[in-house]
Amino acid sequence: MDFDVIIIGCGPAGLQAAIHAARKKVKVAVLGHLEASGLNRADVENYFGIDQMSGKELLFKGAEQARRFGAEIFEQDVMKAERKDDAFEVITDHDLEFRSRALILAPGISRKKLNVPGEKEFLGKGVSYCASCDCNFFRQKTVAVIGDESTAASSALLLTEYASVVYWISKNLNVAPQLMAKVKASKADIISPASVARITGDEVVKGLELNDGRRLAVDGVFIELGAKGAADLALDLNVLPDPSGIIEVNKDMETSVPGVFACGDVTGMPWQLARAVGQGCIAGTNAAKLVRKEAD
Ligand SMILES: Cc1cc2nc3c(=O)[nH]c(=O)nc-3n(C[C@H](O)[C@H](O)[C@H](O)COP(=O)(O)OP(=O)(O)OC[C@H]3O[C@@H](n4cnc5c(N)ncnc54)[C@H](O)[C@@H]3O)c2cc1C
Repeated sequence: MDFDVIIIGCGPAGLQAAIHAARKKVKVAVLGHLEASGLNRADVENYFGIDQMSGKELLFKGAEQARRFGAEIFEQDVMKAERKDDAFEVITDHDLEFRSRALILAPGISRKKLNVPGEKEFLGKGVSYCASCDCNFFRQKTVAVIGDESTAASSALLLTEYASVVYWISKNLNVAPQLMAKVKASKADIISPASVARITGDEVVKGLELNDGRRLAVDGVFIELGAKGAADLALDLNVLPDPSGIIEVNKDMETSVPGVFACGDVTGMPWQLARAVGQGCIAGTNAAKLVRKEAD
């Protein structure tokens, strides 16, 4: 199937890109699952002009809006995306082939799972994968951050500004010395080497059990195992992500590869809706401009 612009990612970044590109009268395909967007699980109260709204409602309205302007949404996962001659070729898990002249990467950041009992059960009830999204809910509470690398370290630091007690639990600390020094100078209590056996609670999180038998009473558990997901797609396209999977873009949302744009969480923090739609607007507009210029 031939399109002018293919967008990988059906979250707010991808959908906003689709809205802006489709309004410029280019043929747009959006690939991805609405249900898989981070926004689908959010309860938004910090977005301009909206006091409070379920992320799901906002997301599905955005998808309808994109469709109204002519974008086609295919709820499929991309298995491969590569440059073939002067076009991009994308193959999905439904074995469909899409071609386009411009490509926008908006696959978000899939948070790595810890895979312990209680993690799924208490998601949104004390378990979070995003400290900057949820820190405000844990003012004067006790929280634990789990992870070994810079994402965990910076989350622990951030949380010291909100929570009264912050435990950082790491199997194997692997953080640059400058950042490590900041955490050590903060009030965070570093428990390492240690690993989590289970997250416990009733309606909400109440505690953690470590593999060495220790128990900690906590109100929140932040699983910060680093970002992954988009890196493989990017590498297929010769876009080199940083070690945590983040894709660098310029102010026009262009990556280092001509014709490939990126927007949303995949381009870095803060992982927030406002940033995702702002970048989506720029990426969609510029991808459409590029295609129209080529056509002229
Ligand atoms: C629980 C929770 C609460 C949050 N609360 C807030 C909040 O209150 N305020 C706020 O501003 N932000 C909040 N956020 C963050 C916000 O949801 C994200 O910043 C935003 O969704 C990022 O948008 P995105 O489009 O970049 O990525 P996402 O919304 O994550 O969308 C990613 C899309 O890419 C698709 N995708 C991934 N890989 C592939 C592939 N290989 N092929 C095809 N498609 C693919 C997925 O299917 C999905 O459609 C919250 C997030 C979570 C998880």
